[in-house]
Amino acid sequence: MLHTHYFDRSSIIISLPFNIHKSPGSIHLCDALDALTLPDSRHLGLDPTIHMCHAGCNGTHVNLADGVIGWVKDNKSNVYLIMAVLWKSHGFFCRGTVCYCVRNKEGKEYALKDCWVEESKKMHEPTVKDIPNVVNLIDNGDVYYEGQPDCTARIREKYGQDQRDDTAFCNRFHRHFLLSPCGEPFSQFSSRTELIMAFRHFVIAHQAMIELMSPTWGPQS
Ligand SMILES: [Zn+2]
Repeated sequence: MLHTHYFDRSSIIISLPFNIHKSPGSIHLCDALDALTLPDSRHLGLDPTIHMCHAGCNGTHVNLADGVIGWVKDNKSNVYLIMAVLWKSHGFFCRGTVCYCVRNKEGKEYALKDCWVEESKKMHEPTVKDIPNVVNLIDNGDVYYEGQPDCTARIREKYGQDQRDDTAFCNRFHRHFLLSPCGEPFSQFSSRTELIMAFRHFVIAHQAMIELMSPTWGPQS
């Protein structure tokens, strides 16, 4: 028996099983194999706005600068080169956050956060700004797919009414956040002093955030 499993950031959709040894099961098996091996990768759900290099890319990109491991395009077709993956979450569901160190065409570096945010929390992060020792949000927005915001409800449009009526379903929007400056991982710090200074800066940032949320709170001086 063969099932197909489709994962998006909201949940999983599993097809009804069919027997691959019985006709027309064998025909459906050929269809399934064709669908998995022949189409453009975007039809398998891979993100067309981003390219991460792999062994098959070797020698296929001309004029790619040293150290570049991929690239990502924003909605205005600006290309950012990916220099490193700074952090990546695990698992199939929820936000699926990945943070990249990227470089624009002028050579300026940024941190790019790619994630899938619950519809109700879409505007939480863009409201945080001008806090000491916290990175500045340069740009943010929905990632577009074929002219419309990419979200898990868009993926579900192709499925039956019972999938769309699932009350446990939580729509998630694919979002990009461009941040500056791009920090260094702890592992690349050169001294204990540098590490301790970083923690000191965290405390200042944390206090500023608490004061922002509650203006009456804070040390009395
Ligand atoms: Zn490549």
